[in-house]
Amino acid sequence: MFSMNMGIDLGTTSVQFLVQGRGVVIDQPSVAAYSTKDNSLLAIGNEALAMFGKNPKGIRVIKPMGGGVVQDFDTIEHILRVHVERLCKNALFKPNVVVCVPSSVTLLEQRTIMDLVTVAGAAKVCLIEEPLAAALGAGLRLESKPEGHMVVDIGGGTADIAVITMGQVSLSKSVKIAGNTIDEAIMRWCRRNKRLVLGESTAERVKKLIGYALPLKKPIALPVGGKDRVTSQPRSVVLTSHDIYEAMRDRLDALSESIREVLMTTPPELAGDIARSGILLTGGGAMLHGLPEMLSQDLKTPVRLAKNPRYCVIEGTGKALKNMDVLIRNGQHFRTREELLGYAED
Ligand code: ADP
Ligand code: MG
Repeated sequence: MFSMNMGIDLGTTSVQFLVQGRGVVIDQPSVAAYSTKDNSLLAIGNEALAMFGKNPKGIRVIKPMGGGVVQDFDTIEHILRVHVERLCKNALFKPNVVVCVPSSVTLLEQRTIMDLVTVAGAAKVCLIEEPLAAALGAGLRLESKPEGHMVVDIGGGTADIAVITMGQVSLSKSVKIAGNTIDEAIMRWCRRNKRLVLGESTAERVKKLIGYALPLKKPIALPVGGKDRVTSQPRSVVLTSHDIYEAMRDRLDALSESIREVLMTTPPELAGDIARSGILLTGGGAMLHGLPEMLSQDLKTPVRLAKNPRYCVIEGTGKALKNMDVLIRNGQHFRTREELLGYAED
């Protein structure tokens, strides 16, 4: 094989790479660690994440993706370059890369991302909108049939709500209600109601273990450690799934409301399709226990969780590489760095 085709998903929480013919080959946290002395790159991914929150002296840890878009370009370029070089060390040619972008990005942001990917070592680059990738990866068939689908991708930083028809995103909305805001709500609740300050990763662990979007008939309990809000002494309390439900409720209601708003602005024919076929949930945040049931009750529409929700978007790039129709229909094709020069200038 001469040239290598790849897909990249630059998420707020994780950076994932797929190599055509091999599947997902990299799934690492979107984090890098630098020396504060000379700004040199010390570690990326899991190794850098292990330093996060512990703030060892002389080390600065950066999470470069905020709210679904690149916020720190240099760091993202470093992360991309390290992965591309590792994956391509024995390849004769540079890879062609399909990279996912949120539907809301401007032309200029599209151009910047494509630029970054070529600087990091790609020969040619092509974009795919995340909701399309998520839908393809979840197994929806996006042929040119005029049938409406709704996909809600819930990541760490944003939930992206999109209506897709004829292989194109017909409307979309991105809201900052996702995994991280739910973790923050749990931290806030504990501070107020239990006088306990929880670390970010503890809050996330509690959410995954005993976070239920619908109250359980028999709540489950979990002992959790943190620091006393007043004395700063280490202390532990027992939290129940009902406590976490209370903590998350307001954010989950707001998420449901945002989906309802998109449904209300959906043209009637497409809304009719969605009422029949239901809403598809993708992304790690969609794995919250009971979320499909809660949204379904609230929105009076069937809601289902995709298989392997954390991998739908990246698997979608693989599907697009196999069958470029979806990309072509959206005016996307592979471009070299030189061909990018005129992009976004009109
Ligand atoms: P991104 O698109 O932001 O890179 P993901 O799709 O991987 O990220 O989603 C990350 C979010 O999913 C995090 O907030 C994480 O806490 C959440 N998450 C992962 N697994 C679960 C789970 N089992 N239950 C609830 N939330 C989860
Ligand atoms: Mg994502």
